[in-house]
Amino acid sequence: MFRRLRYGNTNTYYIDCPGGGLLVDTDYAGTLQGFFRAAKSEGIDIRNIRYLLCTHYHPDHMGIAGDLQKLGIRLIVADIQKDSVHFSDELFSRDNRLSFTPVNEKEAIVISTAESRSFLCGIGVEGEIVSVGSHSSDSICLVLDSGECIAGDLEPFEYIGAYEDNKALRSDWECIMKFSPKKILFSHRPDIELEDDLLTEFLAAPDLKC
Ligand SMILES: [Zn+2]
Repeated sequence: MFRRLRYGNTNTYYIDCPGGGLLVDTDYAGTLQGFFRAAKSEGIDIRNIRYLLCTHYHPDHMGIAGDLQKLGIRLIVADIQKDSVHFSDELFSRDNRLSFTPVNEKEAIVISTAESRSFLCGIGVEGEIVSVGSHSSDSICLVLDSGECIAGDLEPFEYIGAYEDNKALRSDWECIMKFSPKKILFSHRPDIELEDDLLTEFLAAPDLKC
């Protein structure tokens, strides 16, 4: 079961697995009640959510990560994200109307992107975590063997030609392309369906298509 939840401005995704599910991203701080409502309307029992992975630690992707940890959901942190889990704490602390719980990194499960496939396999998810540094140094994508790529805030590949120095974005999409994804799911944009070798062709001739 694959679900998209909306309770603010960020798409969050949920992958149900036999031993409990994996949530990818949250919304801003203060959205916990909205999350509960969205989960209920999608038929997701909160008690079945076992893990949370954030595509990166910008405030609109990790705002309730600490709250969810307190509920017993285990936070999975990729090694490249270790030093970024508190990136948004200061911003949230400036607004004391917001209820915000910082991430408890001591309770997090830190995994290397290289070993992500075996870790994910162990929790019933077939796929890999891929580091994509063009949006932020801690950004990752989750590429599933079923064809979905949860891309977070990675800019669409159509933008490669729009930048003078687009090496980082190009190299991120080249990494993703190796997995032959069928559908790209963003946090704030419509999905992109990839027919046949669209991405391969695009990367081979970006200037012609921009
Ligand atoms: Zn971001």
